[in-house]
Amino acid sequence: MSDQTLPVSSAGATPVCRRLVGRTAVITGAGSGIGLAATRRLASEGANVVCADIDAAAGKAAAEAVSGTFVQVDVTDSDQVAALFETAYDTYGSVDIAFNNAGISPADDDSILTTGLDAWKRVQEVNLTSVYLCCKHVLPYMQRQRRGSIINTASFVAVLGAATSQISYTASKGGVLSMSRELGVQFAREGIRVNALCPGPVNTPLLKELFAKDPERAARRLVHVPVGRFAEPEEIAAAVAFLASDDSSFVNAAEFLVDGGIAGAYVTPV
Ligand code: NAD
Repeated sequence: MSDQTLPVSSAGATPVCRRLVGRTAVITGAGSGIGLAATRRLASEGANVVCADIDAAAGKAAAEAVSGTFVQVDVTDSDQVAALFETAYDTYGSVDIAFNNAGISPADDDSILTTGLDAWKRVQEVNLTSVYLCCKHVLPYMQRQRRGSIINTASFVAVLGAATSQISYTASKGGVLSMSRELGVQFAREGIRVNALCPGPVNTPLLKELFAKDPERAARRLVHVPVGRFAEPEEIAAAVAFLASDDSSFVNAAEFLVDGGIAGAYVTPV
């Protein structure tokens, strides 16, 4: 596969519209990767952004870059998550968008045969219990407003099996996907939409470093991507902005794949 023949990302090439003026968005994991790109994108569309992260330096920097508000939160802690949405409401007067995105993918979560209970539980807590807590604590605000868009970050691995297993991660994302669907159905008539965002592999610093060290590992994955490259965080953020805005007013309880065609592919182009 020659790099020169592959289409490059055109993320950021289109002028951004202002679909989110007057809306307040809470983003977890805002300090890095997809959360950081979404912070920039939602703010550029006019939203007030509340940046939540366990990493104070990264979260604060993200908030400062968009004149938003930083709240240090461990998303596995119910009281801290409740306080996060309370701060958003007290600061801006509404909570219109919840992008429940914080997640981890640690190295000790691997094949089921080698993954211990500690790693299993840690990943379930950060990736799945956190989404339960965020939804539980934001829904009452949205019910009162009779309006809201909740976007929970799942993954393409929630719909596809991989021989390169990260067993707890995959199971956690399957949980996020089905929980989002159920909530989308339950609260639809109260003006609240809940969707599961399922990104394909994203070109984050961690992934870049890993694949630079181990090109074979990258090639093993890239062969399955019809587009022939990984996503840029800005391309995932563009989907988040769509799901957050009224442009997606009839998109609900969806498995919203942004994966370059991976889930639709059998044989990919050479
Ligand atoms: P990232 O590591 O770049 O950013 C995650 C952020 O979450 C970090 O800022 C981190 O400090 C924060 N965080 C971690 N644990 C936390 C906790 N307990 N409380 C609060 N904040 C916490 O990750 P990313 O690649 O941007 O991934 C974001 C989401 O997208 C995750 O849910 C991930 O599983 C999912 N995802 C990523 C990819 C990918 O290829 N990067 C693909 C599909 C899905």
